[in-house]
Amino acid sequence: MTDIQPLPYMDIKLDIEDRIKDLLGRLSLAEKFRLLSGHKMWTTRKIKRLKIPELGTTDGPNGCAFHSTYKRNTLFPTSICLAATWNRELPLKYGEVIGLETRASGRHMILAPGINIDRSPLNGRTFEYLTEDPFLNKEMATPYVKGVQSKRISACVKHYAANNQETKRFTVSSEVGERALEEIYLRSFKAVVQNADPWCVMACYNKVNAIYGCENKFLLRDTLMDKWGFTGFVCSDWFATRKIVGSSGCVKAGLSLEMPHTMRYKIKNLQTEFDQGKFTEQDIDFLVTRLLRTMFRVGLFDPKEHLPKGSRNLKEHWELSQKIAEEGIVLLKNDKNILPLDPSKTKAICVLGPNAKKAMGKPFYGGSSAVWPKHEVTPYKGIERKIKGRVVLTDDMTAADAVILIMGLNHSGHKDAEGSDRQRLELPQQQVQLIKETAAKNQNTIVVLVNGSPIAMSEWIQDVPAVVESWYGGMEGGTALANVLFGDVNPSGKLPITFPEKISDSPAHVSERTFPGVDLKVYYDEGIYVGYRHFDKKDIKPLFPFGFGLSYTTYEYSNLKVDKNRFSGTNKINLTVDVTNTGSRSGSEVVQLYIRDVECSADRPIKELQGFNKIFLKSKEKGTVSFTIDKSNLEFYDEKEHVWKAEPGKFEILIGSSSRDIKLQTTIEYQ
Ligand code: BGC
Repeated sequence: MTDIQPLPYMDIKLDIEDRIKDLLGRLSLAEKFRLLSGHKMWTTRKIKRLKIPELGTTDGPNGCAFHSTYKRNTLFPTSICLAATWNRELPLKYGEVIGLETRASGRHMILAPGINIDRSPLNGRTFEYLTEDPFLNKEMATPYVKGVQSKRISACVKHYAANNQETKRFTVSSEVGERALEEIYLRSFKAVVQNADPWCVMACYNKVNAIYGCENKFLLRDTLMDKWGFTGFVCSDWFATRKIVGSSGCVKAGLSLEMPHTMRYKIKNLQTEFDQGKFTEQDIDFLVTRLLRTMFRVGLFDPKEHLPKGSRNLKEHWELSQKIAEEGIVLLKNDKNILPLDPSKTKAICVLGPNAKKAMGKPFYGGSSAVWPKHEVTPYKGIERKIKGRVVLTDDMTAADAVILIMGLNHSGHKDAEGSDRQRLELPQQQVQLIKETAAKNQNTIVVLVNGSPIAMSEWIQDVPAVVESWYGGMEGGTALANVLFGDVNPSGKLPITFPEKISDSPAHVSERTFPGVDLKVYYDEGIYVGYRHFDKKDIKPLFPFGFGLSYTTYEYSNLKVDKNRFSGTNKINLTVDVTNTGSRSGSEVVQLYIRDVECSADRPIKELQGFNKIFLKSKEKGTVSFTIDKSNLEFYDEKEHVWKAEPGKFEILIGSSSRDIKLQTTIEYQ
């Protein structure tokens, strides 16, 4: 007997494209059909004859999810907290660890990151998304994808596109104009595709301009693949094809994988439509090639020893989770520097509130992103550990030096949860009452919010000296919070989303038509004026603006320098700003760069974020942050000509510590 030669597609020395071609050539049409749909919720189907194993998926984006692995894994802070760090290194590490945990869970693809734009603060999934701003979005999502894929795990960037609410998510059509699509809703998908090369994109549930995401040829074939050069495959959101009639629309649009099992892509249906000439074998090959490419990229056909080794629940993973929670916490109010609390000067504190002892990481809690960690440090536990033996914890709010009220939302329906939207921007009435009653009894009442979307606070904020936005901080959220409250960590998070005073101030909430829609259509009438773009244009004062966050120290901005005032073509302008920590504690500041087009043939936002840098400075230390501006930072989408362009003329460069706190500015000219 002679040794059986491995088939070429098994040969790891060959180029992936050659391996794909070889394997594709060996598949029968029926086998190709088999590969196009999922099986048992989380995997593709095996083809035993050719030793094609299952491609296993698991949910994200806040860790390697429980319900798809039945394993307890590291629970990270939710995505909005990650975005609030404004620290590009953290999504990279977050992605790497999630990649390792996915690998150790025996899966090959994580259904993350979620990069839909926060159009409405009431969207039930705001906590799973990053921000209202496309620039911040892409800057955080790009390293996330790179981190995941560095472990040869496929990212699956979701939900493409304009999936901005949960109400009627299976049937609603997002009616959105070309410019808003380009500038707001597609922009970060495009950047992530072009800068991080994700191996999968998930098509959304909803229709976009009357066509379901999974059969939307304009979005998939024409834009994602042909225009942007996407090299991976498209999978459907789970059950997203259910309402679609026939299979050929999805085939022609570029949908490679229907999940979680066969619906439109039943072999019988595919065969019938194929026989009717509705699509060709080439069309099928196009879809299968993309899916196989990801299978090869994640190493499905490679010996184990050639693949990165996964790991789960390591101490380093938990430490990273804590670090992200610490950097994401946003200090919203701190009158008379009541925070940080000094344990040596505090005798007793009282910790109360519905979220004080509430664990947020539980199986199926909040929807598909639910991660169940091995342990979770609640706010109460974090504070208790921190002050043990030094400060007394009392239930008597009148006897305490300070009361810490742990309020906010949770992952039940109509709060921060998949499948429903929030009904109101305010906290539940009992919480408002508790804040007011407590504040009347103890003037040192500190409100900590544990939640994943903006909260209106006008009813009570004037009654309390301090408010801390701690988001859902993951399994070490309580440790991180205690470190901030007691000054071991100086808060440096900034809001990745505007907090409106009231819901009617928000651009999506003008009428039923704009949210949640009428007759299964939701009209994006505000166009490009989403988030702070709207508040700026209408001159509405938000409760807390985009980019806002206080610190325990103070920073001074000076010396804005540009290396030239004019540029043209593909040249760049380099810019530096000095920042001095003028207070007595070390800290990190997020220096933000916004650009305003002084004169343009199109209506443009008052300003748009086009750069940021986070700098760590010791007390009294001065540092310099640098930015580079090129033509892409000046561009808008011209609807008449259907192109991105930068018009020659003047642009103001605004440097600030939030979108409403501009410290320095200069003017440049593009020729
Ligand atoms: C969600 C996706 C998720 C999928 C699988 C869907 O309901 O919209 O985000 O990845 O389920 O759980």
